Amino acid sequence: MRLILLLLALVLGFGTAGWAKPARNQVTVDLTIQPATHSFSCRYTLTTTAPAAVSQLGLNLNRQFRLATITGPQVTRFTAAPWYDSFQKDTLQRLSVAFSGPQRRPRLTVEYGGQLPERFYTDSLAELTAFANWLPNLPDREYELVDYQLTVHVPVGFRVVSTHEPRRVRPGEYYFTGTAPNIELTAVAARSFTTLVAAGSPQIVIHKANRPATHLDTVLLSQAQAMIRWQNQTIGRQEPIRQFTFLLPGTNRNASGLLDNAAVITYSDFDPRRTGELLILAHEISHKWWGYGTWNDYNNWLNEGMATYSSLLYLRTTGDTARFRQELAKRRTSAASVGAVIGFDVRRNDYPTFRKAMYDKPTVILYELEQRLGTEVFLQLLATAAAAHLATTEEFLTLVERQTSRATRDWLAGKLST
Ligand SMILES: [Zn+2]
Repeated sequence: MRLILLLLALVLGFGTAGWAKPARNQVTVDLTIQPATHSFSCRYTLTTTAPAAVSQLGLNLNRQFRLATITGPQVTRFTAAPWYDSFQKDTLQRLSVAFSGPQRRPRLTVEYGGQLPERFYTDSLAELTAFANWLPNLPDREYELVDYQLTVHVPVGFRVVSTHEPRRVRPGEYYFTGTAPNIELTAVAARSFTTLVAAGSPQIVIHKANRPATHLDTVLLSQAQAMIRWQNQTIGRQEPIRQFTFLLPGTNRNASGLLDNAAVITYSDFDPRRTGELLILAHEISHKWWGYGTWNDYNNWLNEGMATYSSLLYLRTTGDTARFRQELAKRRTSAASVGAVIGFDVRRNDYPTFRKAMYDKPTVILYELEQRLGTEVFLQLLATAAAAHLATTEEFLTLVERQTSRATRDWLAGKLST
């Protein structure tokens, strides 16, 4: 009898564990890049887990790409139609896929391809990064973590880099695996890469496409290492960065941090000794910790507000308190003309207003929270929040109450609500 009870407990135990933490979606990508024509083709296979069985699935795809087909063991038909995404504020294609019956783990393969969007290629470089929006995404789940396998084919004479080293390399073929937000699967193809490494802890790697290293790259290596060391002792103390990769495609467009200990910096004259660039660098690196907040609604302040205040904290720690106060004052002015953070409708506001509500106002509130708690308690709170991978404001408020007090929770909820 005891044995039966034990077995029953094991079965129930496993069942409960499975329910509490649903398996991540599985993604297999087979990508062929033709840098000469700035084009690519892709087979994207998604196996998804749903809380309940589904008979159909929708996916969004960049409208610039040509859909070839959608297949799968139980796929019976599919359609593609223009569809306006109010979060991305862009017209995409909505792919609708029907299955033969309810599926617990629906699986489908989307085959598509086309020209890379402008600004994501040069003569001998193709940049398939999150901003190129080159992958199909489940609506409003672009940033959800997936377990992926990414195989990239390139012509002879080209190399491929990603956020980390490939698992396997053959002539013209690179194979990567990992866990990342679906939208952040990354492949940069170029004729050559200059690779620089800052040894020690944390290890910093730079892959620079088609150009030799310059003094600025050495500056980036040393600045990033100093910055991450400080972040590892503060916001990242519970989940420190051991290794970080920078991809420098030279496409001169923007900078973005990726959850997978990596960042893409496209500016060819990026100099983190200048305040603006130092803030960008600290902000983007910190997205390693501030990338779990729900992106498609007001909870995005947990990503952008936290990353912005993290960058100001680093500026202050370099000893530049005057510049820290200036930067804070700029955000205070900006925040004064926007309403509450909680409930902010990211779909009905333009980008400048979005910046005010999701970047600037939370930054000012976090400063006030630090004043209220003192720096050490505040940093401990941020470190715990970072390691907890919080998705919602409510989760953060609960943590604040647990780490500090009910009164501070209510105070913070009030600040975020007005
Ligand atoms: Zn950001």
